[in-house]
Amino acid sequence: MSYFSSRSSSSPCPVCLRGAIAPMPMMESLACNFCSHIFLLEQSEDRRQQFLRMADTISTLRWAWTGKRWENANAVQVYTSRWLSIFGILLVIIPTAITSCAAYYFAPEPNVPLAWFPKFWAIATFCGHFLVLMSIVRDYTAFPIRAYWRSLFRSSS
Ligand SMILES: [Zn+2]
Repeated sequence: MSYFSSRSSSSPCPVCLRGAIAPMPMMESLACNFCSHIFLLEQSEDRRQQFLRMADTISTLRWAWTGKRWENANAVQVYTSRWLSIFGILLVIIPTAITSCAAYYFAPEPNVPLAWFPKFWAIATFCGHFLVLMSIVRDYTAFPIRAYWRSLFRSSS
């Protein structure tokens, strides 16, 4: 297990997977240059394993240094992120499938008033559930949607 030296090196950020985390001047903590999250470096009791803990949110996310990158350190974190992705996909797909099937099989006559409504409802169902999913993911992982949005804006202008 090679040692991650907080003084000399930077390492990939485990939250945004895009920035690099490096020590902040005059401080014990490290910060990411892309998403601006702040982290604290911790050591296991035998000093052989290093952990990174998120310091600027209430989230309990923790990562262990593998020599090259940070990996989920809590069993709960691994478990949750796996189930969160399965649950998330189902949350979006199932209601959308139901409303789409309904719109398809019970299609109204094309020229009645509100004939557009079933299709609209299917699309709205998808968007609504997708937004709910995004907000859960963002709260759980503190994923920097804003930072990505800003960089998109910067590179296109
Ligand atoms: Zn980051």
